[in-house]
Order: sequence, then C-alpha cells, then structure tokens
Amino acid sequence: PFPKFQNTLHSIAKKFYDHGFSCYVVGGAVRDHFLKKESLDIDLATNASPKEVSKIFKQTIPTGINHGTVTILYHNIPFEVTTFRTESDYTDFRRPDTVAFVQSIDEDLKRRDFTINAIAYDILHNEFYDPLGGIDAIMQQELKAIGSPQERFHEDVLRILRGIRFLSQLPNFELERNTALAMKQQAIHLTHVSKERITKELKKLLTGSRASYAIDIAYQLGITEILFPELNFYHQKIILPNQTLWQTLLTALTYTPNEALHLRIAIFLSALGENEPASESYQAIYHSAKQAEILLTRYKSSNAMKVKVSHLIRHQELILLDTWSDGDIRRWLSKVGIEHVDELLLLNKALYRACMRSVFDLDVFYQRVSLIIQANPTIQIQQLAINGSDLVAIGVPVGKQIGELLQQLLELVLEDPEFNTKTHLMQAAKFFMTT
Ligand code: ATP
Ligand code: MG
Repeated sequence: PFPKFQNTLHSIAKKFYDHGFSCYVVGGAVRDHFLKKESLDIDLATNASPKEVSKIFKQTIPTGINHGTVTILYHNIPFEVTTFRTESDYTDFRRPDTVAFVQSIDEDLKRRDFTINAIAYDILHNEFYDPLGGIDAIMQQELKAIGSPQERFHEDVLRILRGIRFLSQLPNFELERNTALAMKQQAIHLTHVSKERITKELKKLLTGSRASYAIDIAYQLGITEILFPELNFYHQKIILPNQTLWQTLLTALTYTPNEALHLRIAIFLSALGENEPASESYQAIYHSAKQAEILLTRYKSSNAMKVKVSHLIRHQELILLDTWSDGDIRRWLSKVGIEHVDELLLLNKALYRACMRSVFDLDVFYQRVSLIIQANPTIQIQQLAINGSDLVAIGVPVGKQIGELLQQLLELVLEDPEFNTKTHLMQAAKFFMTT
C-alpha cells in the first residue's frame, strides 16, 4: 500500500520483529491510502518502548519522548515511531499529563480520535488491522469519533477542531450524528485550548478543498461563535436579497485556490469592520484591516501573515475600469505593489462572483494592468533616475525633506514615464525647492 516506502518499511519492521517487537503503519497515512491519496509522512506504532526503539536503531531523535515518540532516520527518511499507549489523567480538556505504555495495538487504536484514523497496517504480514470499523467509515464517508464522542471531546477538546478540518480536507465526508451532537455540546470548552494548537488546525481547515462547507458546519455547531465572536454580525447582515454576509463570504472562498491561505483569510475577514459606524466605505475597509490584525494577533499569527492579510484587505477595492488613466493605474501599482496584483485580482473576482456580478470588467482591467506592468514602469523611488545624494548636492538639507521631494518627483514620473531622466528630475527638484 505504500509503494514509495515499501522496501524501507519492510526493513524497519523486520528489525523490530527480530528484536521481538511488532510494528504497524498508523494514522493519516493508512487513512489516506484508502482515500487513494499519497501520504508524505508515515507514522509507525510499536510495542517497543522509546528506550528500546533508540537501542534498535542507529539514528534516532527523541522527538516527544514523554509521549512515547521517537523519530528514526532510516536511509535519511524520518519516521515517527510511537509506542502503543493509552492516555490518562486528562485535566482542563487538554492533552494528557501522563501516558501509559501498553502492549496491545487494540488499546492504542482505541485512544485515537476518529475511526478513520484508527486503522493499522501490519507491515510484515501485509494486512490491515481495523477493529474499529475505520475502513467502512471511509467507504461511507463518515467522520465518527471512537467510542463515546462525549468522552473523546471532553478528554481533548481540540479533537473537535481536528474533526472540522478533516471535513474540510476529505471529499464529501459528513459528521456522524452523535459525533456532531457531542461537538456541539463540548464546543464551549475550546476556550481552554492553546491558541497555537487551534491555529495549526485552522490553517489546515482553511486550505482544505471544502473549507466553506466545514466553516459552515463549525458555525452550526456553535464553534465559530466561541472562537470568533467578532464575526457573529456576519449572520445578521443581509447584503443581497436572501443572502447574509456570512453566506456571501463563504461562497467567495469557494472561488479561491485551496493553497491560497492568506487570500482566504483576507476574504473571510474583509468585512470585519462593517459593524462599526463608518461614513465612508474606505473607513469600513480601514476598520476591517485593523480588526483583522487584532484577530490574527490573538491567534499568534506570524508578522508576515498579518502584514499580507492586512495589505490585501486595505487594498481590496478595485475602483477601476475605463475611467482610470494609465497614470491612475501606475499610481495604484505604486501603492499596492506589483507582487500583490494577482492576489488582489483573485480576491475581487471571488467577491464579484459571490455577489453574482460579472467579472468581465475585472478581466479587461487586468489586461490593461498587465500591459502597463510589461512596460516596466517606474513606480518606486528607488527606480528614479536620481537619488538622495543628487538632491543633497544641490543644497537640499539631509533629513525627511529628501524623501518628500523624491516622492513628489515620483508622482510626476507616475503620470508621465518619459519624465524619468536626470535632467528633467533635477530641473523639477530645483523648481520644487524654490516654491
Ligand atoms: P495529517 O494528514 O494532517 O498528518 P493525521 O491524521 O496523520 O493527519 P496527525 O496529527 O499526524 O494527524 O496524527 C496522527 C494520528 O495520531 C492521527 O491519525 C490519530 O490517530 C492520532 N491523533 C493525533 N492527534 C490526536 C488527538 N488529539 N487525539 C487522539 N488521537 C490523535
Ligand atoms: Mg500525520
């Protein structure tokens, strides 16, 4: 079942076997095999203790020794090996404080989250071991917690969010009834989970092929209300006949590529400021960008992520079309940066489509923008034919005046690219200095 790893897996399993231990492939890789998806990382489970694993293999890294995980490097490929275990002593709805190692794979499979994640593949005997009905659940496209869903989510409430992200990643899966019910009842405890663990799941959720579907289920189960109360007003705000802001933005997400994480975040948070009183639409956009930054900070996003998302939101509106001169387009490029043009177009297209507006105008606009970009326009101060020292040489005092003057000169070049020569710019600089 794992052609790429077949020989390696066989040698690893043989080593375990020769020392009197068993070895199985478990977790996502087995699930993905039945979904006909290739898995990049393979998790292994064994009854050998972490110490024994470290003894049997030459190259090991004690990745999570307290939880029984050792990474073995075999022909330079890393494999995470986890000792069969049960989990005990759950406190505060978080991961267990201690784990107990056990001898039986059955016990180990039972402590996992969903039945689809609890199938084991016995490498040496080349057979699947599936005591919890995981294969059947995959065939039925059913996401079902193992054992008592209430207990599973109470033990580790992050499993609720893992479940939602599996709905987003896996094709056409639906929640089993009791699993959904338990999620709804336990969602309130998500406040106990660390923001880092939540964010890790949210990223996977947002880049799944059914992100909109999964987010809407999260809403129906009361999860979004707990994680993002600031989005609650999306459900009240009607923006099209019979369509809420929430529905419109979810539809917009379906028009974006799966891997475009920050684009999807930008779309989803693009209207965040619209619950504040604002007299002009640019103010609402400004509020949205600010609030998005606050939300992302709360969820420990990287600075780069915050800057990108906020930039996209700030420049979301293309006030474009035939009324724009070439100069207008160059001024716009100077403001948003050429590297963001494609994403801003994608963002607008997604929102236009969600609002059932034609994207024809956007395409026409994009063609014009592309032509202008191809002409390699001067849109940054650094591209001007003169620099700060040229200005100092004609007596401009060192300081912020230099930057202001260069900006003024750039405006001239944005309007007329032919103006970007040393002679023209020095002449203009002298003129600006005397007025
Ligand atoms: P992915 O494809 O994203 O790696 P995965 O199912 O492999 O998905 P991992 O986080 O790599 O997810 O975990 C590997 C396995 O460990 C899971 O398939 C599941 O059996 C078990 N597992 C992981 N996290 C939990 C948890 N919070 N509670 C119970 N079991 C878990
Ligand atoms: Mg995995």
